[in-house]
Amino acid sequence: MKKGYKLLLFLLVAGIGFGGVAEKSKVLATGGTMESIQQKKEEINQAKEEREKLKNGLSDIKKLVQQLEKSKSSLKNYVKELDGQLIDIGEKIEELKSLIAQKEQEIEETKKELEEAIAIEEKQYEEMKIRIRFMYEKGDQFYLDMLAGASSFGDMLNKAGYVEAISAYDRGKLNEYEENRMLIEVIKEQLEEEEASLQEAKAAVEQEQNNLEILIDNKNKEITAYETDIATQEQAIKEYEAYIKEQDQMIASLEKALREMEGSKRTYDGGMFKWPAPSYTRISDSFGWRHHPILNRQQFHNGVDMAAPGGSPILAAYDGTVVAAGYSGTMGNYIYLNHGSGLVTIYMHASALYVSVGQDVSKGDKIAAVGTTGRSTGNHLHFGVRLNGSYVDPMGYFN
Ligand SMILES: [Zn+2]
Repeated sequence: MKKGYKLLLFLLVAGIGFGGVAEKSKVLATGGTMESIQQKKEEINQAKEEREKLKNGLSDIKKLVQQLEKSKSSLKNYVKELDGQLIDIGEKIEELKSLIAQKEQEIEETKKELEEAIAIEEKQYEEMKIRIRFMYEKGDQFYLDMLAGASSFGDMLNKAGYVEAISAYDRGKLNEYEENRMLIEVIKEQLEEEEASLQEAKAAVEQEQNNLEILIDNKNKEITAYETDIATQEQAIKEYEAYIKEQDQMIASLEKALREMEGSKRTYDGGMFKWPAPSYTRISDSFGWRHHPILNRQQFHNGVDMAAPGGSPILAAYDGTVVAAGYSGTMGNYIYLNHGSGLVTIYMHASALYVSVGQDVSKGDKIAAVGTTGRSTGNHLHFGVRLNGSYVDPMGYFN
């Protein structure tokens, strides 16, 4: 009898768990723990399915580039086609980034659950040690016999499951212990799944970002090749002028829309603007006349170009109303904000737009993401300011 107790204590002290019981004894499911286990198993299966979807949803860059080849007959079509793909991939990247944030939060929560379950196990373990010592000291014959005959701790617990005389109290405790043990196992499995999903999403973002780079490279090459081709230089200049004309016409129609808009009764109070591309790295082109290196001629640049990473935020420079938010072959994704008193701001080449026509925005609101859509050869925000129908230098509106 003493031998059995020593064996038990040894096993307890050595920290050998009750793991073996899980498969062996027939435990009746009781209450919440089994439900949690079932729920977790379902979540694990869901995570596996999601990962499969994620893999299948990645862009096929080879196919996209092949598709683009077909639209090379005209630069305008090419840019439009390519922009469509840029926008799609940009959206995928944003979705993946929010998936990553979600997974990171889930992992935090699952880790907390695991800690809680382990704390419960430790408490149960302590209680069980006290209980066994108590039963031993009380000299309860059934417990002593059970301990004496057991060859291992798992065997002992297994026997306990069949000893009829074991108290309902102890049986209940054993069940609780075993269920918690199973819960710990399933939480660990869930944690592994979540970590795998997180890694997968991170790899997917990287791949999509590479795809984006490939497309932008192709676009830049195409625009540059078009402009440098001597045979088509005359045509390139003409086309560029047509682009500018198209843009001016667009602006004119936007201003007409503005005049017709009810909310145009805004007044501008003279306050300073907020810098609309907070992640900008440099001003890649300033406002005014400049020499176009490829077309070899003077051209007027009607805004400030702020080079910034693709996907970084574009903020409303001032309180205003969205007069237009759309796409054009020159401006790419653009936004046109009315600030009242004849003052408007224009944002071009965005990868994504977050506002729609008629919406009121506040200074500093995120309205779009930086991109390189339209007639653009790199991620940047073209920021323009118009006062009473003419372009003015935006730099006069910043502190
Ligand atoms: Zn520009």
